[in-house]
Amino acid sequence: MKVGFIGLGNMGGPMAANLAKAGFDVTATDLSIGAVDRAVEAGCRRGESVAATVSDADVVVSMLPAGAHVRSVYTESYGVIANAKAGALFIDSSTIDVDSARDVVSAASEKGFAMVDAPVSGGVAAAAGGSLTFMVGGEAGAFERAKPVLEKMGRNIFHAGAAGNGQVAKIANNMLLGITMIATSEAFNLAEKLGLDAQTFFDISSTASGQSWSMTSYCPAPGPVPGAPSNRDYQPGFAAAMMLKDMRLAQEAAHKAKAATPLGAQAEALYALMESAGKDDLDFSGVMKLIRGDL
Ligand code: NAD
Repeated sequence: MKVGFIGLGNMGGPMAANLAKAGFDVTATDLSIGAVDRAVEAGCRRGESVAATVSDADVVVSMLPAGAHVRSVYTESYGVIANAKAGALFIDSSTIDVDSARDVVSAASEKGFAMVDAPVSGGVAAAAGGSLTFMVGGEAGAFERAKPVLEKMGRNIFHAGAAGNGQVAKIANNMLLGITMIATSEAFNLAEKLGLDAQTFFDISSTASGQSWSMTSYCPAPGPVPGAPSNRDYQPGFAAAMMLKDMRLAQEAAHKAKAATPLGAQAEALYALMESAGKDDLDFSGVMKLIRGDL
């Protein structure tokens, strides 16, 4: 099967490499020549342009920064829809706003192409290890066609429903994660200020009702979870800048849907303070430093 891959950054580079390793005939392109060179070293063919990359592809996969890039790459005359061969399937794995995802799927469908939005959970390590989680929106038939490709880049593949629902699952999950990380940071800070050490509080709360993934897998207080970024001075991991991007997408969608998300709004404001402080390159659990007054 021929795959055209567009967007070979931190995530797309290793994802394209995994498809090539799995035996797909992958042509890969990016605005960065260096990124294309690395993909060629990893077994992909060089895509000289988006049009050349998709013209012969059975499946097109894209991994781009934001909604504007996805709209442009798919809908402009140089792009995917105008240049793909009839019957090709499109998979966009970028994290983008729900409206852009739905609009691009509609534009593809108007020209007879099946398309899914398939954003991922898991960072660069999961992209390299082929262990991403994919949250897929789109028609059932398109999902079934996408699955064998996604399985070579990820471990868990979920069908979230209609077009755009992959993005909905992604931003709702990350809003929850962003909030629980702040709540967990506040609780550790309070316990410590009142004389309870982080390990003892962890031992109690991780088996009590305050337990969450933010605590047991990614504890923002240094000590209790050795592999967590808090033990390497909050080097990412998942950078606060990326969490802030997802928080903003969640708030934008919440406003449009008139869904009350007061804690999501607060959480966005706190990660934005990390950005203002020039510390959004830290892991998002570095919000603990903000809560402690250390930023
Ligand atoms: P990145 O900035 O490293 O890569 C994006 C790539 O797209 C760049 O190489 C850029 O040159 C390329 N690009 C932009 N416009 C293009 C165009 N018109 N044609 C061809 N190539 C173009 O970003 P990333 O970290 O790989 O993230 C990609 C997506 O995955 C984002 O939507 C991000 O939110 C999401 N995501 C990232 C992570 C992570 O940990 N990095 C985790 C989950 C989801």
